[in-house]
Amino acid sequence: MMSETVRVRFAPSPTGMLHLGGARTALFNWAFARKHGGVFILRIEDTDLTRSTEESVGVILESLKWLGLFWDEGPEVGGPYGPYFQSQRLHLYREYAEKLKSTGFAYECYCTPEELKMRKEATIAQGRSWRYDRKCLHLSERERRAFREEGRKPVLRFRVPEGVTTFVDMLRGEVTFDNEELDDFVILKSDGMPTYNFACVVDDALMRITHVIRGDDHISNTPRQVLLYKALGFPCPQFAHVPMILGKDKTRLSKRHGSPSVTYYRDMGYLPEAMVNYLARLSWATGEEEKEIFTREEIIERFSLEQVTKHAAVFDLDKLNWMNSVYLRAADPLRLRDILVDILKRHGVIRDEECTAEFLEYCTKVILLMRERIRYVAQILEDAAYFFTEHYEYDPQAVETVLCEDGVPEVLQVSFELLRNLEAFDAATIEMAIREEAGRRGMKAARFIHPLRVAVSGKKVGPGLFELLEVLGKERVLARVARTLEFLKER
Ligand code: GLU
Repeated sequence: MMSETVRVRFAPSPTGMLHLGGARTALFNWAFARKHGGVFILRIEDTDLTRSTEESVGVILESLKWLGLFWDEGPEVGGPYGPYFQSQRLHLYREYAEKLKSTGFAYECYCTPEELKMRKEATIAQGRSWRYDRKCLHLSERERRAFREEGRKPVLRFRVPEGVTTFVDMLRGEVTFDNEELDDFVILKSDGMPTYNFACVVDDALMRITHVIRGDDHISNTPRQVLLYKALGFPCPQFAHVPMILGKDKTRLSKRHGSPSVTYYRDMGYLPEAMVNYLARLSWATGEEEKEIFTREEIIERFSLEQVTKHAAVFDLDKLNWMNSVYLRAADPLRLRDILVDILKRHGVIRDEECTAEFLEYCTKVILLMRERIRYVAQILEDAAYFFTEHYEYDPQAVETVLCEDGVPEVLQVSFELLRNLEAFDAATIEMAIREEAGRRGMKAARFIHPLRVAVSGKKVGPGLFELLEVLGKERVLARVARTLEFLKER
């Protein structure tokens, strides 16, 4: 049992989209906080002024909200340990840097990047490995003043003690680094900005973070951070480094593996609960390996860091697609309709003013017809754009193997008359009429069904024809059959 209140944080750098890896880290933090009745904090690590953008902050917040990973303290909601943007906390980093300087844990270094580069190259040329040679460790005040008069601006370096640094990782157990491997790393840059390791420790300490859950690409930073906690006299939080998400080829997830960004999946019509379920399952061994579908509540209830696997997770789009299709089937059709309408607008298929009640109803029918056949909502636009345009093309293969069969113009002509005379235009009525007509002519119903499908959709495959005709509606269907007859005449 944890006695003190669990406080965890997700600390993205706003230099781009929220990627799946970041989303999964946020999810684990969120689930851990919710499970233990703790606090989930969002902190924006925007000290890299050249790469951080407000736009990216917006996208990250939006992505987290879309996933339903709401934070208890942070941007927009505030909290007792703010501000939650590192760029607004610079005075704190300076204050603690001063403290380290006055206690002898940090020292000014006036070496220029060029000088460092030269010395590094010379060391490596001698076959030795380079770490900062502490040239500035014992500068006198006079030497420092001379450098400043030259116009040099110092960085502040942390003086790494001798020995080893050990911490316990909740996933891997004890991890030990030889301090030899840790340079006297920079904590304040020459422009006064803190480095990641330093700002992170000051903030995690001042924000009373109890558990640092982050990607295992940070594991080599952790000993530096542990040294900083000790030097500053702060208690050390617990650490859990969760594995990276890799592409199928075991390289870091990137564009080549499909898009890595959360907003991409939102825009394609994936459901946030499916994304959350997929990301949660990605490197969390639940102990019930056959169970794949977990509600948000189940994730919270069962989540435990000890069950997070240590090896990298492999992103599998097919599995995500499968999972999303499960959620699509269970979702409220009106919600799916809204997602579809949004996609249609974004792709310029329809304009706001065209979204009449009638059109919305049509979209609901399209969704109900298609949702068993799609893996994400935008697939309707990819596979079945004919629902929304009269300018669909006939698949050349369908023309050749279906429309150009003997007797097709006659079948289409007969169908046109038949359908025009129907009073009710529901699937059952249409089906009965067509089967009867085919029977009367001693033909199989398929001889009607295949050409009609190509006529109204341009394709050989799709949803059940009678349902399709019902959804398209009489007017569209008749116009499309007439158009196909014209097309055949012209050939
Ligand atoms: N800003 C860091 C990142 O985006 C945070 C790492 C951490 O959680 O300590 O990777």
